[in-house]
Amino acid sequence: MRIILLGPPGAGKGTQAKDLVTKYGIPQISTGDILRKNLADKTPLGLEAKKYMDKGELVPDSVVVGIVRDRLKESDCKKGYILDGFPRTVPQAEALDAALAEMKTPIDKVLSIEVPDSELVKRLGGRRTCRSCQAGYHVMFKPSKKEGVCDSCGGELYQRDDDKEEAIKNRLKVYMASTAPLIGYYKNKGMLATIDGVGDMKVILDRMVKALKG
Ligand code: ADP
Ligand code: ADP
Ligand code: ZN
Repeated sequence: MRIILLGPPGAGKGTQAKDLVTKYGIPQISTGDILRKNLADKTPLGLEAKKYMDKGELVPDSVVVGIVRDRLKESDCKKGYILDGFPRTVPQAEALDAALAEMKTPIDKVLSIEVPDSELVKRLGGRRTCRSCQAGYHVMFKPSKKEGVCDSCGGELYQRDDDKEEAIKNRLKVYMASTAPLIGYYKNKGMLATIDGVGDMKVILDRMVKALKG
């Protein structure tokens, strides 16, 4: 199964992707995680991307398209995958279409997760992320067992620079301008399923599984 998770920052893409990985045994491909890993390792790619990420701007299309093209060629993607946070612009979606047409492996479904802005701001403001494994937590909605420590790997939890107030506002703006048009793009292709992203995380997972079966 090849799936795209579409939705504004804080919609729960990363959270749900982790559960879909467990359920379907296919990898999660998060361009945000890949960029942050490069940043932590201080690669030239990571240092270049940081300039955009800290302000909540998008990294140039050519950079992320290159990352995803390479990643899709790895052997664990043969069974399928979950794209989380890519594509984020129409040119990225077109580049993905072209790459997948060449590989003869079309996307099965695009799940568009809908959450109102007021809720997104609360989610992003309280999000904590593991430095080592990138697992996501929330100080109120999904606290770790021990404060500041990752349940799965014992790594240190931190607040992303772009989860601070100014960057959050900008990211929501960037989403509306550059990413929201993808909803129409995939709807026109008959690939879109809309998911209500408010409520219990397990209930939202059930909604996704139903949409993937339908
Ligand atoms: P995205 O990857 O779409 O940016 P995340 O999965 O990182 O979103 O979720 C953003 C924040 O909201 C995280 O702190 C996460 O723990 C929390 N969260 C995710 N889903 C829900 C939910 N259904 N209800 C409340 N909080 C949630
Ligand atoms: P979110 O929680 O907002 O969904 P991500 O972890 O997916 O955050 O992305 C964090 C940042 O990484 C984005 O604000 C952007 O700067 C960069 N980024 C991630 N994916 C892409 C992409 N597909 N195109 C451009 N920039 C991206
Ligand atoms: Zn961890």
